Parts: sequence; structure tokens; C-alpha cells
Amino acid sequence: MRRLRSISCALACTALAAFGSAAAAGDCRPAALEKLRAAAPAGFAIYQQIKDKKFFLNWISCDEADFGLPTAVHESVHYITAETDAFPLIHGGQLKRPHEVSAFFAPSLIAGKFKANDFVSTYLRPGSASSSTDFLYLLDELNAYTHDLNAAVNFKSRVADEGEAQVDHRDGLSADGVRRALCRAGGGERTCDLARLA
Ligand SMILES: [Zn+2]
Repeated sequence: MRRLRSISCALACTALAAFGSAAAAGDCRPAALEKLRAAAPAGFAIYQQIKDKKFFLNWISCDEADFGLPTAVHESVHYITAETDAFPLIHGGQLKRPHEVSAFFAPSLIAGKFKANDFVSTYLRPGSASSSTDFLYLLDELNAYTHDLNAAVNFKSRVADEGEAQVDHRDGLSADGVRRALCRAGGGERTCDLARLA
């Protein structure tokens, strides 16, 4: 569902005000949310949409470029998809999950068609993520990465506008892939379950 900019602003102010004390303690989350709101409105809409704000905030990392916000958006898209049984779309609205595609071939069958890389081993190799056996979850990843990359490109454009050094988001994606793989290896954590990485 599309959200009016004025509503977004009102909600942003409320959310940011809630972190007033955290900011005083040196918490980067208020700054991260403000950056998301200002530079990546579609990513901020995901933060607004997710009911469990803690889930989103737990993915924020003060030590990472862009505070790890593309990853927070990515994992929250998975969360929302699971809760609503629908894919949230970049420009608002949603698409009901087409469960019939679960009858398609297992995506792991095409893993050998690609050069080995983190994405193939994480999402297509047999025994890895749900996306290797169920086409529906490959669509889930495609949608999550669309939001993820959109946020990253928004940030990169912003940095370019401000004349600062640019960060190669491909490096960030590789790091995200490794982190998600580690998350999966840990097993049992709610975040991993919701992201369907197990
Ligand atoms: Zn994912």
C-alpha cells in the first residue's frame, strides 16, 4: 500500500524521537534511520511496514558502510513476505505469493550453469537455502535483493552527490552473503528462521 510522504514524515519523527535517549548513549540507529528516510524512501517504507521494529534495528551495524541498512531492508522484506504471504513491492503495494510456482523445478538444477560464487553456493546449491529446492523462495530472494540493491544504489547516488568516497556495494553484498551463511550455520535463531536461510 502506498504511503503519503507526509505520513512517512510523521512516522519518521515519532520513530526517531523514540531513540532520543539511545542517541545520547552513542547509538547509531537514530542516524541510520534518518539516513534511510532521507536517502532511500523505499527502504524506509519497509521499516515503516514491518511490525517488529526490533527485527529491523537488530540488523543495523554501526561499523558497516551504510550502517548495514541494505541488509536490514533485505531481511525485513523476507519478514514482511512471510507474515503477509505477499511480496512487498519497491514502489508500494504488494504481490500475493504465487504458491503454484512451488511445483516448478528445483532451482538447484540450474546451479551448475553459473560460475561458482557466494550467491550460487548460498541460494542454489543443494542443501543450502530454501531457494535451492523451492522456486517460490528464489522469487523471495529476488524481491529482497531488489529492495536491498535499490537502497544501496540510493545511498551510492547520495554519496556521489555529496562528493564523498564511494563504496563498492558488490563488496557489501559479498559480506552480507557470508554473514547470512554464518547465520544459517548457527541455526535456530529467529532472524535466520524468518529470513528462511535455514
Ligand atoms: Zn535473502
